[in-house]
Amino acid sequence: MDKLYLVIPCYNEEEVLGETARRLKEKMESLIARKQIAEESRIVFVNDGSRDRTWSLIQELNTRDPLFAGINLARNRGHQNALLAGLMTVKERADVVISLDADLQDDIDAIDEFVEKYHGGFDIVYGVRKAREKDTFFKRTTAQGFYKVMRLMGADLVYNHADYRLMSRRALDGLAEFGETNLFLRGIVPLIGYPSTTVEYERNERFAGESKYPLGKMISFALEGLTSFSIKPIRMITSLGFAIFVVSLIMFGYVLSVHFAGRTVPGWSTIVLSLWAIGGLQLLAIGVIGEYIGKTYMETKSRPKFIVERAIGISEAERQTSAARSAAGAALK
Ligand code: UDP
Ligand code: MG
Repeated sequence: MDKLYLVIPCYNEEEVLGETARRLKEKMESLIARKQIAEESRIVFVNDGSRDRTWSLIQELNTRDPLFAGINLARNRGHQNALLAGLMTVKERADVVISLDADLQDDIDAIDEFVEKYHGGFDIVYGVRKAREKDTFFKRTTAQGFYKVMRLMGADLVYNHADYRLMSRRALDGLAEFGETNLFLRGIVPLIGYPSTTVEYERNERFAGESKYPLGKMISFALEGLTSFSIKPIRMITSLGFAIFVVSLIMFGYVLSVHFAGRTVPGWSTIVLSLWAIGGLQLLAIGVIGEYIGKTYMETKSRPKFIVERAIGISEAERQTSAARSAAGAALK
């Protein structure tokens, strides 16, 4: 049976941790009882450099019950990094992982459906928020605007999906291949491939504590997402430069006609012409340089060029040679 690991990043979550642990334990026990997951499944809290009692609470949970495990980060690195730390740490032990927030705003009853879909052969299951009535008007509109802008910029996001998702071990292996430092998980996961599906759920209010995502963090998160996925803003400079250059050509005709009609003051024609021509050329040049910087930027991410899902006809031979190799290795010992 498959071992399910829940990975939960926590930053200053002392107010919710106890209740969260209780509810998740109940959920895990019912899944184990129904033989949906293995008994060695775990609930893993990742402490993201909290300044309150979060880590000592996690330690306490772990000594009381082996179902609970903990990972302590050396300092606060933000939600995305804490999540990745958790995923990469449990990768070798878990067969399947579900990531969720410590405040349980995302309905945990969806976990049953996640696991069902996983058994149905899906490697990635995205939790998708049904309605956002419970969010404030501001959060709802900004968040939805964000998804739209990201789409426009060419990033393939799952609409209304945050970081509540299930990933199989091989999907995690795929994720580990991405070399980028500026991590925007929900943009990267769709790039991995493998069969995926969505599960809808209701989003609730926080039952205790405050949001750890104030406006400032939200804006920097959105900018991070945008700039780490798209070099379209650079391309916009190029197009703008080109557009202005075209306008300058039109201006050329206009200025000449005005000049020869004698309806101008001395010096006007040259100044206006150079203004447009130089402005356009400069923007165009910046855009061209930007294109190369953009290329360099994408290269430095060293993303995997492909992930092989399966090879047939050659995989058997491969297995035999590796078996032979390990047999030879054993003989040497
Ligand atoms: N979080 C984290 N590090 C941070 C900020 C937040 O690990 O620097 C965690 C937090 O503990 C929670 C999750 O990220 O489990 C989502 O945060 P929150 O619920 O405050 O965000 P919101 O739901 O308001 O968007
Ligand atoms: Mg929350």
